Amino acid sequence: MDIEKVNLSAAELKLCNHCLGRIYGMLGHHLTNDERGRAIRIIYAMEKNEDVKEVEGEECIICGGIFSRIDDYAKYTASILKDIEFSTFSIGSRFPEEVVNMEKEIQEKYAPEGAGEYIGREFNRELGKRISEITGKEANLENPEVTVIIDTEYDDFKLEIKPLFIYGRYRKLVRGIPQTKWPSGKYRESVEDIIAKPFMKLTKGEEHALHGMGREDIDVRMLGNGRPFVLEIKRPKKRTLNLKEIEKEINENSDGKVEVIGLRYSNRKEVVRIKTAKPKKRYRIGVNVNTNEEEIKSALEKLKVVISQRTPTRVAHRRADRIRKRRVYDIKLVDKKDNTWIIEVLAESGTYIKELMHGDSGRTRPSLAEILNKEVKVDFLDVIEILD
Ligand SMILES: [Zn+2]
Repeated sequence: MDIEKVNLSAAELKLCNHCLGRIYGMLGHHLTNDERGRAIRIIYAMEKNEDVKEVEGEECIICGGIFSRIDDYAKYTASILKDIEFSTFSIGSRFPEEVVNMEKEIQEKYAPEGAGEYIGREFNRELGKRISEITGKEANLENPEVTVIIDTEYDDFKLEIKPLFIYGRYRKLVRGIPQTKWPSGKYRESVEDIIAKPFMKLTKGEEHALHGMGREDIDVRMLGNGRPFVLEIKRPKKRTLNLKEIEKEINENSDGKVEVIGLRYSNRKEVVRIKTAKPKKRYRIGVNVNTNEEEIKSALEKLKVVISQRTPTRVAHRRADRIRKRRVYDIKLVDKKDNTWIIEVLAESGTYIKELMHGDSGRTRPSLAEILNKEVKVDFLDVIEILD
């Protein structure tokens, strides 16, 4: 950059050193705009052979002196962050339209080609530096744990806190509990509530969501290796947790209803993985049907195929009515207790297992009921393994 070809006459305007310096944003390395503006003012005075003209912050026609108040902004921001645990943060800001337009107009007229920096960028950077000094925390634009957004027109401060994500697997050891809260309030507690309780207490979060790798029916237990999930805690004030302790607390306080295994920190990307996974599942199902061992064994052999299932009547009110093809990888008789035949099934994700047994009035084909040509009643169903 040839300084002699740069129009320095913006030094005649009523601009603070910051706003003057931003016009010439590309001149020199490792300078703050404050230093750059001061230098421009001096060079201009030397060229004109006159006194350096100082401009007070409040007189500045772009910022009205916001940069001279930046330490107050920093102190106030740090005070909002005081009770929140975070290691990285970022600052965002909004400036009034008049400020933005005034700056644009001046920079279009005076800035050398490719130079000129937006006021918000300098404000965010300078405020970030000071907050780092006060709090010892690192400014990070990519993936901050907290973001403070300041509307400079009204001095309104908004705090965004990154949610906390915890991965684990849950076992639901009793029937009659839904995975997540029902809007109707029909069920008093959910697997989600039981797992989230200690997290809410410890993090002082405001809301929670449980992202499960599928879900079992309310009357179905989830046994074996458990179902993968990611628990999301919104607006947590604390992020460092003893997950082993929390695991123990959940397992000891759930009255034998729910257990969690392998809690660890997670992220939003894993939520997507969990929600899109299509794992095979192994079930144990008990059915009542008037038959004998030989007959039922031979009927089950005929179910090791791709079956076709029209949306079951019981879920038709919330799912599209269509026909799905699902593979039954394995199915076998494992026990008989009283009048209940106990069967294990390994099936593709999304298979309706109860319907595979009773046939849902011919909507699932083939089914155990269809092959035996007898009425089949489902006594119980458990998920015993999720092969994810
Ligand atoms: Zn200014």
